[in-house]
Amino acid sequence: MKKNTAIVNAGRQKKWTQGVINPPVFRASTIVFDTVLDMKKATAKRAEQEMFYGRRGTPTTFAFQDAMTELEGGAGCYVYPCGTAAITSAILSFVKTGDHVLMVDTAYEPTRDFCEKTLAGLGIDVTFYDPMIGRKIETLIQSNTTVIFLESPGSLTMEVQDVPGICEVAHAQNHDITVILDNTWASPVLFKPFEHGVDVSVQAATKYIVGHSDAMLGTATANEKCWPTLRENSYLLGQCASPDDIYLAMRGIRTLGVRLKQHQTSALQIAEWLAQREEVDCVLHPAFENHPGHEYFKRDFQGSNGLFSFILKSSKPEALTAMLDGMEHFKMGFSWGGYESLILANSSVGKMRSATTWPFSQPLVRLHIGLEDVEDLIDDLERGFERLNEHL
Ligand SMILES: *Cc1c(COP(=O)(O)O)cnc(C)c1O
Repeated sequence: MKKNTAIVNAGRQKKWTQGVINPPVFRASTIVFDTVLDMKKATAKRAEQEMFYGRRGTPTTFAFQDAMTELEGGAGCYVYPCGTAAITSAILSFVKTGDHVLMVDTAYEPTRDFCEKTLAGLGIDVTFYDPMIGRKIETLIQSNTTVIFLESPGSLTMEVQDVPGICEVAHAQNHDITVILDNTWASPVLFKPFEHGVDVSVQAATKYIVGHSDAMLGTATANEKCWPTLRENSYLLGQCASPDDIYLAMRGIRTLGVRLKQHQTSALQIAEWLAQREEVDCVLHPAFENHPGHEYFKRDFQGSNGLFSFILKSSKPEALTAMLDGMEHFKMGFSWGGYESLILANSSVGKMRSATTWPFSQPLVRLHIGLEDVEDLIDDLERGFERLNEHL
């Protein structure tokens, strides 16, 4: 099955849909059994998509789990109330006090915070590493290293990691390390984590999977080896997600292929336009040849999306504020992955890095290019630069 056919069909088994097109919303806490034997049977198979108790999921959950495993790969998928819950539960599933975690320096900020606060409090040591380290990660591995966490491309700054290289080192004979990847940027279609050696792949489904900025959801999909541990520990942590939100994700995912195609085309057009602008120092986009890790992007990814950043030449706060305050189509707000364009500035990237030195002191501007017409978006940015220049 080719990509778009798989996206349209994923998870739509009759046992979950009863024959309708979209898997319906099954809301439940209690599920009742007719006989003692029925209850015993359900209990025995409670971890295997059997109707048992609401926290274990209903057919809505099961259809979405199947869809994610079909699209992203792996042996099973656990669903969480948001991407951050998926990240923290995935990590907690594979560490105990005294262990050591290798965390990429360009991780999503709440992931970094979780390491510095929660993991540190549990007596789990974390070393941050350069996203461009590749196979040299070997030099940072300790006898108690149990997790290597990757995020590729990195949050805000978009460095692309050598995922297969790092996985090979992590899985070498003398190590027993679980590789967890935050695969949100790629969604389940632009990067195939399990074909590149990853053990657990995390998605903030809030982004492109839900795709309409109206629900929070997370997933973690694991290979055969890690699935039972991930499933059991996530369950013990009490993780579960609302069937209504899962329904929205299942609806959103059907158009993922066509949406991504348009996000990619429009974003590349705007990134190229920005690269020519005098106000821009540089564009941070994995598809650009001079971008850190571009060779891995070309080798491992099946395309790009609507999210990238650029660095301004000016660091005058009033000028940036004037630019941002007057935007018409680019809305200011956190998150990304919906059909709408978003703009977000960050002037303290350097403070979010500890293993590497961020070379720019000027603000970074992150754009999510939505599904509006490119001409309107470029016009909006052009007028933004005019306001910026008026305040220089
Ligand atoms: C948004 C995001 C998350 C967190 O997802 P939430 O659903 O907002 O908790 C994790 N990783 C990346 C890369 C993200 O962009």
